[in-house]
Amino acid sequence: MRRPPVRRSSSRLAEVEAILRGTPSRWLVTGAAGFIGSHLVERLLQLGQVVVGLDNFATGSARNLDDVLRSVAAAGDRFALIEGDIRDQATCRRACQGVDVILHQAALGSVPRSIDDPATTNAVNVDGFLNMLVAARDAQVRRFVYASSSAVYGDDPRLPKREGNEGTPLSPYAVTKVANELYAGAFQRAYGLEVIGLRYFNVFGTRQDPDGPYAAVIPRWIGALMRGDPCTIYGDGETSRDFCYVANVVQANVLAAQAAASVTGGVYNVAYGRSTTLNGLYLQLRDHVQRLRPGATLADKVHEPFRQGDVRHSLASVRRTTGALGYRPTHDLARGLDEAMPWYAARVV
Ligand code: NAD
Repeated sequence: MRRPPVRRSSSRLAEVEAILRGTPSRWLVTGAAGFIGSHLVERLLQLGQVVVGLDNFATGSARNLDDVLRSVAAAGDRFALIEGDIRDQATCRRACQGVDVILHQAALGSVPRSIDDPATTNAVNVDGFLNMLVAARDAQVRRFVYASSSAVYGDDPRLPKREGNEGTPLSPYAVTKVANELYAGAFQRAYGLEVIGLRYFNVFGTRQDPDGPYAAVIPRWIGALMRGDPCTIYGDGETSRDFCYVANVVQANVLAAQAAASVTGGVYNVAYGRSTTLNGLYLQLRDHVQRLRPGATLADKVHEPFRQGDVRHSLASVRRTTGALGYRPTHDLARGLDEAMPWYAARVV
């Protein structure tokens, strides 16, 4: 099958990265030991920045940070980790000292987790978020970029999903992300803290945990296929998602940190801008695993009832993100899987 041509990265990104290399800043990445946070730390260190990480290892792992430090070699000297909890205000204040830019990723992800335990999800995602905003305001941080989610579109059926077309949240997790956006906007209006919210759509890539009850679909299925276990599809498999490779998310964060003040206070979709059904994803993953492990016996998929809180279709418009931030996603699903699969092949036994 012929692949569409690979999109070239944004010229704005090259400009921003040159500015950063020329004038290094001090960054705080919360959730640094997690999937997305560890990729942000890695890129910032490669760009010559000074980086503080904050994490309590609730879902992240020391192994992710070890991977990063191995890959950046000597640049790792510019990284320091604070092991602590964003539910603790004093920890947030300590982490924000002398920081220019915050990339706030720490949260409890997963819609099903929030349905099982809404109170803990709220404590981390809302109370912890507010602690970070207060600490950022008091430390006079220049820019606060934070992870929101496509979950804020809730039950609105319109496609593609555009900023401004939000529906009613379908899960406690979605409520926490709506609350984040409301609080961040209020902090910009009330205190002049420059904030930018990035609504991530189904992110995937290396270092995303394939194990545990709340694992995301791509790592979970790769793990299952490699072990010869069946892949569970909730519903008929025609549910669709806009799968976004982690490199696109890193790009959006770097751009948001340097975006013009006039676009702050806003929220922006971060996705590739193409949807894939779960049935289609399953076939692509099978194909990848077969190429990596020729001759392996691959178990079939099994269908279970739809899960509560899941939206049926998800596809983003990234027009606003491209216009305001200069965002141009470089990795579609196929290119992302090409990059990520060798990592899973080495990791999953
Ligand atoms: P992750 O679980 O790998 O990373 C989250 C990190 O936050 C972990 O390292 C965890 O230990 C840390 N953390 C959790 N609670 C904490 C606390 N109380 N104090 C300090 N650290 C804490 O998840 P991820 O996929 O990297 O998600 C990062 C962010 O992106 C989250 O805000 C998530 O809601 C958001 N998001 C992710 C996706 C996705 O598809 N992965 C989609 C939309 C939004």
